[in-house]
Amino acid sequence: MIKQNVSMKKFLKFVFISLAIGLLFYSCEHPHHKAKYVFYFIGDGMGQVQINAAEAYLAAIHDEKGFQHFAFTQFPAAGYASTYADNRFITGSAAAGTALACGKKTNINRISMNPDATESYKTIAEKCKEIGMKVGILSSVSIDHATPAVFYAHQASRSNYFEIGLDLANSSFDFFGGGGFKSPEGEVDNVFINAIDEAKKNGFNYVNSVEDIQALNKNSGRVIAVSNLLEESGAMRYALDLNETNLQLSDFTAKAIELLEGEEGFFIMVEGGKIDWACHANDAASTIHETIEFSNAIDVAIEFFKAHPEETLIVVTADHETGGMALGNGPMKYETNLAVLQHQIISSQAFVEVIRDFRVNLTGDMELDFKHMMEIMDWYFGLGNPDKIPLTEKEIATIKKSFLTSLYTSEGAEPDHAYHDEEPLANLLNKMMSDKAGIGWTTFSHTGVNVPVYAIGVGAEYFSVNIDNTDIPIFMEKIIIHGAH
Ligand SMILES: [Zn+2]
Repeated sequence: MIKQNVSMKKFLKFVFISLAIGLLFYSCEHPHHKAKYVFYFIGDGMGQVQINAAEAYLAAIHDEKGFQHFAFTQFPAAGYASTYADNRFITGSAAAGTALACGKKTNINRISMNPDATESYKTIAEKCKEIGMKVGILSSVSIDHATPAVFYAHQASRSNYFEIGLDLANSSFDFFGGGGFKSPEGEVDNVFINAIDEAKKNGFNYVNSVEDIQALNKNSGRVIAVSNLLEESGAMRYALDLNETNLQLSDFTAKAIELLEGEEGFFIMVEGGKIDWACHANDAASTIHETIEFSNAIDVAIEFFKAHPEETLIVVTADHETGGMALGNGPMKYETNLAVLQHQIISSQAFVEVIRDFRVNLTGDMELDFKHMMEIMDWYFGLGNPDKIPLTEKEIATIKKSFLTSLYTSEGAEPDHAYHDEEPLANLLNKMMSDKAGIGWTTFSHTGVNVPVYAIGVGAEYFSVNIDNTDIPIFMEKIIIHGAH
């Protein structure tokens, strides 16, 4: 045995030395290879389970076993990244985004600044711009939100929306797209200023209609392209609440590629921002549909990759997990029924708007109002429909109790609470749908688990290991600026 081990060691040594010599010759013949076109996809709140749930849902509604895989989960390189912040184990989007954009840890709420907020960190997008590449930043939430902001802004707090908007207006980037501005108005030296006007003054072409966005072309110059369907928060509406005639994240991604493709190369960051929001609400169906639309946006990049395989790098990851989502829960034990989620045709957030309208139109006849609400719930969730999701007497009683709390005894939710509306009936329906699907949640906040990283193209092999989130932009810089080996 011992003898065999020694000869095995000798053999392995021989193999390693041969490989090293081979690699040396290979490297000499193939100079360091740079990525010219780079896509950075960040699913906000998209942990492994969010991806698993969406892939399992797609299999379930097509009567297949297991998973119907997204193209990006089949990338040749896959690993995990740790996400902790400098001053907290469970991170937030600003600190995690800073790590993903700058390769450095920072404190919660910082936007590409050091923990004390005394020093700005240079972002990978700024470095790409410096070497002449075109840069595009896209998000399904407002473009001044934490994840997009960390690529172009430097602020002590993610809540400095006006200042972040001004950083955008003063940036040298080429394309911003998706959501609008959460809070673009403010004062500088007692002068009232709108960040969108400042951006226009600095040469940005601001468009916010479907026709104008579709008409954008390579002669449109620097562009801010904002969805025509925005929420009060400046975010795009949930994929589940949009139809074929509306622009989705994948449409903005296609437009960014069309405008930025050229000899200079490009760096495009696309955030699936509302995966996180759906998870904050523990809204399983919206989480799945946001993840599917995020994958659709990645598919657009994959089509580009197929045409430029030697020059393109695509990296897909998340800033953190949200919700402590699980496939499997207490009530269902070993059972899952993900297909029930196909009956939900509205996001929980949009259903909160339905409840608000309903509140204004109450008849005062509680039994009659409840009957109407049951019809609405059948329409939007399939709940109580014998052919979709039949309910027991006990479940109806539970819904009725929530209905009374929501509609007859409470004032309802704060209208502009972006993540998690405290509307008891909407919350109950989220829980009921997850319970019936076999999905579990542990929190309305983030969790500290590692997030997946997928890569394809030039330098993809760098991402095929367990890394820290700060490694990702450091590897990207190597691959873009110095060349992959
Ligand atoms: Zn986040």
